[in-house]
Amino acid sequence: MSFFGTVGGLAKNRTFKPRGAKNDNSTRAYQLKKYAEQTLGSGNLRDAVLLPEGEDLNEWLAVNTVDFFNQINMLYGCVTEFCTPQECPVMCAGPRFEYHWQDGVRYKKPTKMSAPEYVDNLMNWVQGMLDDEALFPSKIGVPFPKTFPATVKSIVRRLFRVYAHLYNHHFAQLCALSIEAHLNTSFAHFLFFVDEFKLVEKKELAPLAELNASILSR
Ligand code: ZN
Repeated sequence: MSFFGTVGGLAKNRTFKPRGAKNDNSTRAYQLKKYAEQTLGSGNLRDAVLLPEGEDLNEWLAVNTVDFFNQINMLYGCVTEFCTPQECPVMCAGPRFEYHWQDGVRYKKPTKMSAPEYVDNLMNWVQGMLDDEALFPSKIGVPFPKTFPATVKSIVRRLFRVYAHLYNHHFAQLCALSIEAHLNTSFAHFLFFVDEFKLVEKKELAPLAELNASILSR
Protein backbone atom coordinates (compact mmCIF):
# COMPACT_ATOMS: atom_id res chain seq x y z
CA MET A 1 0.00 0.00 0.00
CA SER A 2 1.51 3.33 -1.00
CA PHE A 3 1.55 6.32 1.29
CA PHE A 4 -0.71 8.30 -1.00
CA GLY A 5 -3.06 5.38 -1.41
CA THR A 6 -4.10 5.72 2.20
CA VAL A 7 -5.01 9.40 2.09
CA GLY A 8 -8.54 9.82 3.30
CA GLY A 9 -8.85 6.07 3.47
CA LEU A 10 -10.69 6.06 0.18
CA ALA A 11 -8.37 4.72 -2.45
CA LYS A 12 -6.79 1.98 -0.46
CA ASN A 13 -9.00 -0.88 -1.47
CA ARG A 14 -8.44 -0.96 -5.17
CA THR A 15 -8.55 -4.68 -5.34
CA PHE A 16 -11.10 -5.34 -8.03
CA LYS A 17 -10.23 -8.66 -9.41
CA PRO A 18 -10.09 -9.00 -13.15
CA ARG A 19 -13.19 -10.92 -13.92
CA GLY A 20 -14.96 -12.68 -16.61
CA ALA A 21 -13.95 -15.03 -19.35
CA LYS A 22 -13.14 -17.76 -16.90
CA ASN A 23 -9.75 -19.14 -17.67
CA ASP A 24 -11.27 -22.24 -19.04
CA ASN A 25 -10.46 -22.26 -22.72
CA SER A 26 -13.56 -24.25 -23.55
CA THR A 27 -16.02 -21.50 -22.71
CA ARG A 28 -17.67 -19.42 -25.36
CA ALA A 29 -16.57 -16.23 -23.63
CA TYR A 30 -12.96 -17.36 -23.64
CA GLN A 31 -13.06 -18.17 -27.34
CA LEU A 32 -14.61 -14.81 -28.09
CA LYS A 33 -12.04 -13.04 -25.95
CA LYS A 34 -9.26 -14.78 -27.88
CA TYR A 35 -10.91 -13.79 -31.13
CA ALA A 36 -11.17 -10.17 -29.96
CA GLU A 37 -7.51 -10.11 -28.96
CA GLN A 38 -6.44 -11.44 -32.35
CA THR A 39 -8.54 -8.87 -34.16
CA LEU A 40 -7.17 -6.13 -31.93
CA GLY A 41 -3.69 -7.28 -32.81
CA SER A 42 -4.44 -6.44 -36.42
CA GLY A 43 -4.52 -2.80 -35.37
CA ASN A 44 -7.88 -1.89 -36.85
CA LEU A 45 -10.07 -1.00 -33.89
CA ARG A 46 -13.13 -0.23 -35.99
CA ASP A 47 -13.08 -3.79 -37.37
CA ALA A 48 -12.17 -5.26 -34.00
CA VAL A 49 -15.47 -4.19 -32.45
CA LEU A 50 -17.70 -5.71 -35.13
CA LEU A 51 -19.86 -8.64 -34.06
CA PRO A 52 -18.12 -11.77 -35.36
CA GLU A 53 -20.26 -13.59 -37.92
CA GLY A 54 -22.69 -16.05 -36.38
CA GLU A 55 -21.98 -14.90 -32.84
CA ASP A 56 -24.52 -13.94 -30.23
CA LEU A 57 -24.75 -10.18 -29.74
CA ASN A 58 -25.29 -10.40 -25.97
CA GLU A 59 -22.28 -12.67 -25.56
CA TRP A 60 -20.18 -10.19 -27.52
CA LEU A 61 -21.45 -7.24 -25.47
CA ALA A 62 -20.68 -9.16 -22.27
CA VAL A 63 -17.11 -10.12 -23.21
CA ASN A 64 -16.25 -6.58 -24.26
CA THR A 65 -17.90 -4.93 -21.26
CA VAL A 66 -15.90 -7.11 -18.88
CA ASP A 67 -12.76 -6.31 -20.85
CA PHE A 68 -13.30 -2.53 -20.65
CA PHE A 69 -14.04 -2.79 -16.95
CA ASN A 70 -10.72 -4.58 -16.43
CA GLN A 71 -8.81 -2.08 -18.58
CA ILE A 72 -10.29 0.93 -16.80
CA ASN A 73 -9.59 -0.69 -13.47
CA MET A 74 -5.95 -1.07 -14.49
CA LEU A 75 -5.64 2.44 -15.95
CA TYR A 76 -7.31 4.19 -13.02
CA GLY A 77 -5.27 2.05 -10.64
CA CYS A 78 -2.15 3.73 -12.06
CA VAL A 79 -3.20 7.18 -10.80
CA THR A 80 -4.78 6.41 -7.44
CA GLU A 81 -1.89 8.11 -5.68
CA PHE A 82 -2.72 11.31 -7.58
CA CYS A 83 -6.50 11.02 -7.63
CA THR A 84 -7.11 11.87 -4.00
CA PRO A 85 -9.96 13.66 -2.22
CA GLN A 86 -7.60 16.65 -1.89
CA GLU A 87 -6.58 16.78 -5.57
CA CYS A 88 -9.95 15.74 -7.00
CA PRO A 89 -12.56 16.80 -4.40
CA VAL A 90 -15.37 16.47 -6.95
CA MET A 91 -15.88 13.84 -9.63
CA CYS A 92 -15.72 15.76 -12.87
CA ALA A 93 -14.43 15.84 -16.42
CA GLY A 94 -13.14 19.36 -16.91
CA PRO A 95 -14.88 22.39 -15.44
CA ARG A 96 -18.16 21.87 -17.30
CA PHE A 97 -19.05 18.30 -16.36
CA GLU A 98 -19.61 17.22 -12.80
CA TYR A 99 -20.90 13.79 -11.77
CA HIS A 100 -22.91 12.94 -8.66
CA TRP A 101 -23.20 9.34 -7.57
CA GLN A 102 -26.54 7.58 -7.25
CA ASP A 103 -27.09 3.85 -7.05
CA GLY A 104 -30.57 3.66 -5.57
CA VAL A 105 -29.27 1.65 -2.63
CA ARG A 106 -26.67 3.42 -0.56
CA TYR A 107 -27.08 6.72 -2.38
CA LYS A 108 -30.75 7.27 -3.12
CA LYS A 109 -30.19 10.79 -4.40
CA PRO A 110 -27.40 12.08 -6.68
CA THR A 111 -24.58 12.73 -4.22
CA LYS A 112 -21.59 14.97 -4.74
CA MET A 113 -18.35 13.27 -3.73
CA SER A 114 -14.65 13.19 -4.50
CA ALA A 115 -13.42 11.48 -7.65
CA PRO A 116 -11.77 8.55 -5.84
CA GLU A 117 -14.92 7.96 -3.82
CA TYR A 118 -17.06 8.16 -6.96
CA VAL A 119 -14.83 5.79 -8.92
CA ASP A 120 -14.75 3.40 -5.99
CA ASN A 121 -18.55 3.33 -5.86
CA LEU A 122 -18.77 3.01 -9.63
CA MET A 123 -16.33 0.11 -9.90
CA ASN A 124 -17.95 -1.71 -6.96
CA TRP A 125 -21.35 -1.20 -8.54
CA VAL A 126 -20.15 -2.59 -11.89
CA GLN A 127 -18.40 -5.50 -10.22
CA GLY A 128 -21.61 -6.32 -8.36
CA MET A 129 -23.48 -6.50 -11.67
CA LEU A 130 -20.78 -8.58 -13.39
CA ASP A 131 -20.84 -11.04 -10.49
CA ASP A 132 -24.63 -11.36 -10.53
CA GLU A 133 -25.44 -14.50 -12.53
CA ALA A 134 -29.01 -13.31 -13.03
CA LEU A 135 -27.78 -10.14 -14.76
CA PHE A 136 -24.56 -11.44 -16.32
CA PRO A 137 -24.83 -15.20 -16.85
CA SER A 138 -21.44 -16.79 -17.41
CA LYS A 139 -22.47 -20.42 -17.77
CA ILE A 140 -22.97 -21.98 -21.17
CA GLY A 141 -26.61 -22.44 -22.03
CA VAL A 142 -27.91 -19.93 -19.49
CA PRO A 143 -29.84 -17.36 -21.51
CA PHE A 144 -29.20 -13.65 -21.13
CA PRO A 145 -32.04 -11.74 -19.49
CA LYS A 146 -34.18 -9.45 -21.68
CA THR A 147 -32.79 -6.50 -19.78
CA PHE A 148 -29.21 -7.34 -20.73
CA PRO A 149 -28.64 -4.66 -23.40
CA ALA A 150 -30.03 -2.03 -21.00
CA THR A 151 -27.68 -3.28 -18.27
CA VAL A 152 -24.70 -2.99 -20.61
CA LYS A 153 -25.74 0.53 -21.60
CA SER A 154 -25.97 1.66 -18.00
CA ILE A 155 -22.52 0.21 -17.27
CA VAL A 156 -20.64 1.66 -20.25
CA ARG A 157 -22.34 5.05 -19.83
CA ARG A 158 -20.78 5.29 -16.39
CA LEU A 159 -17.45 3.68 -17.30
CA PHE A 160 -16.99 6.45 -19.87
CA ARG A 161 -16.82 8.95 -17.00
CA VAL A 162 -13.65 7.35 -15.70
CA TYR A 163 -11.98 7.78 -19.11
CA ALA A 164 -13.24 11.38 -19.20
CA HIS A 165 -11.82 12.05 -15.72
CA LEU A 166 -8.48 10.44 -16.62
CA TYR A 167 -8.12 12.50 -19.80
CA ASN A 168 -9.13 15.77 -18.18
CA HIS A 169 -7.32 15.50 -14.87
CA HIS A 170 -4.61 12.85 -15.00
CA PHE A 171 -3.32 12.77 -18.55
CA ALA A 172 0.03 14.39 -17.69
CA GLN A 173 0.58 11.84 -14.94
CA LEU A 174 -0.28 8.97 -17.27
CA CYS A 175 2.21 10.41 -19.77
CA ALA A 176 4.86 10.60 -17.06
CA LEU A 177 4.18 6.92 -16.33
CA SER A 178 4.43 6.18 -20.09
CA ILE A 179 0.99 4.61 -20.18
CA GLU A 180 -0.84 7.21 -22.24
CA ALA A 181 -0.63 4.88 -25.27
CA HIS A 182 -2.56 2.26 -23.29
CA LEU A 183 -5.17 4.85 -22.35
CA ASN A 184 -5.46 6.03 -25.97
CA THR A 185 -5.82 2.51 -27.36
CA SER A 186 -8.23 1.44 -24.66
CA PHE A 187 -10.41 4.53 -25.09
CA ALA A 188 -10.42 4.38 -28.91
CA HIS A 189 -11.46 0.71 -28.68
CA PHE A 190 -14.18 1.64 -26.17
CA LEU A 191 -15.43 4.49 -28.35
CA PHE A 192 -15.63 2.40 -31.54
CA PHE A 193 -17.47 -0.24 -29.52
CA VAL A 194 -20.10 2.08 -28.02
CA ASP A 195 -20.46 3.80 -31.41
CA GLU A 196 -20.97 0.50 -33.29
CA PHE A 197 -23.69 -0.74 -30.93
CA LYS A 198 -25.17 2.70 -30.08
CA LEU A 199 -24.67 2.15 -26.37
CA VAL A 200 -24.13 5.70 -25.10
CA GLU A 201 -26.00 8.87 -26.00
CA LYS A 202 -23.98 11.59 -27.68
CA LYS A 203 -24.62 14.11 -24.91
CA GLU A 204 -23.03 11.71 -22.40
CA LEU A 205 -19.88 11.64 -24.52
CA ALA A 206 -19.65 15.45 -24.71
CA PRO A 207 -16.76 15.84 -22.21
CA LEU A 208 -14.43 14.26 -24.78
CA ALA A 209 -16.25 15.52 -27.89
CA GLU A 210 -13.16 16.74 -29.74
CA LEU A 211 -11.17 13.61 -29.04
CA ASN A 212 -14.15 11.47 -30.02
CA ALA A 213 -14.53 13.26 -33.34
CA SER A 214 -10.88 12.80 -34.17
CA ILE A 215 -10.94 9.09 -33.27
CA LEU A 216 -14.14 8.33 -35.18
CA SER A 217 -12.91 10.17 -38.29
CA ARG A 218 -9.81 7.96 -38.54
ZN1 ZN B 1 -8.76 12.40 -10.13
